[in-house]
Amino acid sequence: MKKALVCGAGGFIGSHLVKRLKKEGYFVRGVDLKYPEFSKTEADEFIKGDLRNLSIVDVCVDGVDEVYQLAADMGGADYIFTGEHDSDVMHNSAMINLNIVDSMKRHGVKKVFYSSSACMYPEDHQLEVDVPALREDMAYPGNPDSEYGWEKLFSERLYLAYSKNYEFNVRIARFHNIFGPEGTYQGGREKAPAALCRKVIKSDGEIKVYGDGQQTRSFLYIDECIEGIRRLMESDCVEPLNLGSDEVISINDFAQMIIDISKKEVVIKNIDVPQLGVRGRNSDNTMIKEKLGWSPMQSLRVGIEKTYEWIRSRYE
Ligand code: NAD
Repeated sequence: MKKALVCGAGGFIGSHLVKRLKKEGYFVRGVDLKYPEFSKTEADEFIKGDLRNLSIVDVCVDGVDEVYQLAADMGGADYIFTGEHDSDVMHNSAMINLNIVDSMKRHGVKKVFYSSSACMYPEDHQLEVDVPALREDMAYPGNPDSEYGWEKLFSERLYLAYSKNYEFNVRIARFHNIFGPEGTYQGGREKAPAALCRKVIKSDGEIKVYGDGQQTRSFLYIDECIEGIRRLMESDCVEPLNLGSDEVISINDFAQMIIDISKKEVVIKNIDVPQLGVRGRNSDNTMIKEKLGWSPMQSLRVGIEKTYEWIRSRYE
């Protein structure tokens, strides 16, 4: 039986990944600062611990075949783009990744998945709403628009350096806005899909949408993301790959889609805020299609209907 360690197993993507690995017959050890918020963990062992602490990481890494590294100090625009959390984001996430590679090296564990982000791409390619989709080879010269993105770029390079010097088997995915049931939907760390669903559910006629609403993004449903992670891990692909949807949409159109799903009478009010992020972003999926034969199976509409329904049920 293969033994996997899932770092960040109490978080959104990590808790879904644990379920998938269990279905596939893995023995799963999870670690996180917290238990999953919305359902009981399915991990065989769950260590509640801080991965900034090397001795905890050593306990977690000991005896596993594969590491899935999804722990990070992260959140939505209100957490990442205000600047207030920049030092924590860089310090905490870098420390986690430094501890993990060090511990893996000493324990002879050589296979690792690392969750990078589209936020590592240079801002220069994302200044207009209708920019070309981001291709993997656009990553350099590096110029992410947030410290969160810089840390992801650094950690990608950290894992790749270990693959070069210590023959680590590294798989890296650059996630593009993953959403779905059991994701954070309130409290300041939620991402746009969940935040918009919550706003529509709680609205009595108007919702506030950040910026002029013309900014574009693409969003990937959680089940598709988990499938991509597993395919990547089973592949021999050593280059970082985009893992996202290429169905691009403006934020106002996205908000309107959610309003339509709700069947409520709600109008959009665009508000000016500093924490907007880039103007346009989409995922170029040419490389992942070619390497893994992966592309999203369902439309954004279907995914957001399921997510809306789940968040709505939380308010019943
Ligand atoms: P999440 O915040 O739900 O999960 C991250 C988990 O890491 C949290 O449960 C948190 O408690 C845990 N963690 C943070 N610091 C820790 C520490 N010191 N020790 C132990 N655990 C710690 O986020 P998610 O959406 O599940 O994202 C998972 C990974 O994917 C992250 O690395 C994130 O940067 C990356 N990512 C996510 C998205 C997305 O759209 N969700 C997009 C790009 C990249």
